[in-house]
Amino acid sequence: MKRREIFSGNWKMHKNLDESIELVKGLVEGMGDIGEREVVVFPPAVYVRDLVALYGESPIAIGVQNMYYAEEGAFTGEISPRMVKDIGARYILIGHSERRHVFGETDEEVNRKVKAAFAFNLEPFICVGELLEEREEGKSEDVVKIQIERALQGIEVEEVVRAVIAYEPVWAIGTGKVATPDIADSMHGCIRATVKEMYGEEVSTRIPILYGGSVKPDNIAGLYTKENIDGVLVGGASLNIDSFLDIITVTY
Ligand code: PEP
Repeated sequence: MKRREIFSGNWKMHKNLDESIELVKGLVEGMGDIGEREVVVFPPAVYVRDLVALYGESPIAIGVQNMYYAEEGAFTGEISPRMVKDIGARYILIGHSERRHVFGETDEEVNRKVKAAFAFNLEPFICVGELLEEREEGKSEDVVKIQIERALQGIEVEEVVRAVIAYEPVWAIGTGKVATPDIADSMHGCIRATVKEMYGEEVSTRIPILYGGSVKPDNIAGLYTKENIDGVLVGGASLNIDSFLDIITVTY
């Protein structure tokens, strides 16, 4: 028996407005009955308002890929949690590996963004994951445990139950190298144990933990059979209607 089952797509910096509409339209039309499964897409922020206007009432929920933590101010080029809420997004991706490793986002900033998300009634997808060298040095569990502890520092139990955690090993993102189902399952177990230490058993069993890193139609079934994998965060394969539909509708 799975917890909340979430199939999400991070479009990164891809698609124009027409292509964004076409993709969501294709997903809505092709999805069929997926029962309790939840589908969330994270398009580029500039298209979110149009997509919410067109598909806000559809089974597809819309999120934003990143935001700053301040409510407003002299932060040229940034968007605030108030703005994200204002355009109708429900979810916010926080601490994606590209934010951490391309743009230098720290655990402290991740924590501030998580706090800002809850303050504005947004639901954060908190991304964690180790680098290849950290895995090779046997440090994966420690790295991810620290990322979780720092991201959730000062977060109350009533808030944390609205969070989603995504385990995305950096070496598997956009590389075609997927974590084996056993590696992913055991890392998810470690994340759940960390949440249990912080908030207790009941909370730890409720929080959905998604796997991300080169998920494709041909590897989703193996991952999804695992007890601790409650869904996925998909990059490349979420940009194509057919491949994302194959992932969303996986049977196992
Ligand atoms: C991602 O962007 O979060 C991701 C997992 O990308 P990909 O599926 O392309 O590896």
